[in-house]
Amino acid sequence: MPLTEPDQVVDLRSDTVTKPTPEMRRAMAEAEVGDDVFGEDPTVNRLEALAAERLGKEAGLFVVSGTMGNQASLMAQTQRGDEVILDESSHIFNYEVAALVVLSAVQPRTLRGHYGILDPEDIRRAIRPPNIHAPRNTLIAVESSHNRGGGTCYPLEALREIRRIATANGMAVHLDGARIFNASIATGAPVRELAAQADSVTFCLSKGLGAPVGSVVVGTRAFIDRARRARKMFGGGMRQAGILAAAGVVALETMVDRLREDHENTRILAEGLASLPGIVIDLARVQTNIVIFIVKRKDLDAPGLIVKLAEHGIKAFAITPDSIRMVTHKDVNRAGILKTLEVLCAILG
Ligand SMILES: *Cc1c(COP(=O)(O)O)cnc(C)c1O
Repeated sequence: MPLTEPDQVVDLRSDTVTKPTPEMRRAMAEAEVGDDVFGEDPTVNRLEALAAERLGKEAGLFVVSGTMGNQASLMAQTQRGDEVILDESSHIFNYEVAALVVLSAVQPRTLRGHYGILDPEDIRRAIRPPNIHAPRNTLIAVESSHNRGGGTCYPLEALREIRRIATANGMAVHLDGARIFNASIATGAPVRELAAQADSVTFCLSKGLGAPVGSVVVGTRAFIDRARRARKMFGGGMRQAGILAAAGVVALETMVDRLREDHENTRILAEGLASLPGIVIDLARVQTNIVIFIVKRKDLDAPGLIVKLAEHGIKAFAITPDSIRMVTHKDVNRAGILKTLEVLCAILG
């Protein structure tokens, strides 16, 4: 019996490819709406309150994307000419079109983490003492789970230490928690405990949680008021956005616990990969729904392997000439994972 339909496409490029569930589509069709720039969309208000409650913060702000959430947070917590400490492989530094420089006019100070995870001691050493020549260090930005790091997570204790360092130096902490629920499942730390170590947190509804659009930023009410102004400045003030927020409510209410399945599938994929010739993978790095591996062969590089996989209906990204990233999500089932391993085995011999 074939493992999958012969023509089944297995799309492992990103968890952003997930399609909304039937329940989301129903909720969207029936959503009560109003003008959200006037604060009058009941469904947006409900999503923002629900997100704040789940993460243990005072208030929330529905934004178009994770990028907008991160950038509104940076603008709300810095002044022009400040310096933000973050890791060199972070999403904010690499994949947000230099927005922190353009929109908030802050200077990035990048540190090298272990698969994206910063050592609190390195942060402590990077903080500049007050000096007329120096930019002011006002913000530390961390990312968990870490995208480019391969889905790695900060242990709760490391976040607590970063929180202590920030407080001691009068700095704020922003957590890019695009996949914070994955991080919570992987570390066993309640999502509120993770969020409690940061002043602001962004998380995505449109990745593993399956909503079609949107992210939420949470923090104190005063912070959210400032972030709301930034969102408006960025052109992100939406009107009857309850149509979109309705899917976000369903995502938060029904899609969080099933992320465990993605982690299990990733584990099976990673362990299968580890047994293949010419594949190098650090299994300690595989903690959530992302796997990054190195293709070490004379006859085939990473983009070449991507082309061969595509011929079998399997999609993934080569993120460097010798490495490939695969991301599991609700629209790839166990059979899709096994098919991927079967095809890889056939290609790599
Ligand atoms: C996906 C992602 C974002 C935001 O991405 P958008 O495409 O702007 O929604 C931010 N940070 C991390 C770590 C991400 O993985």
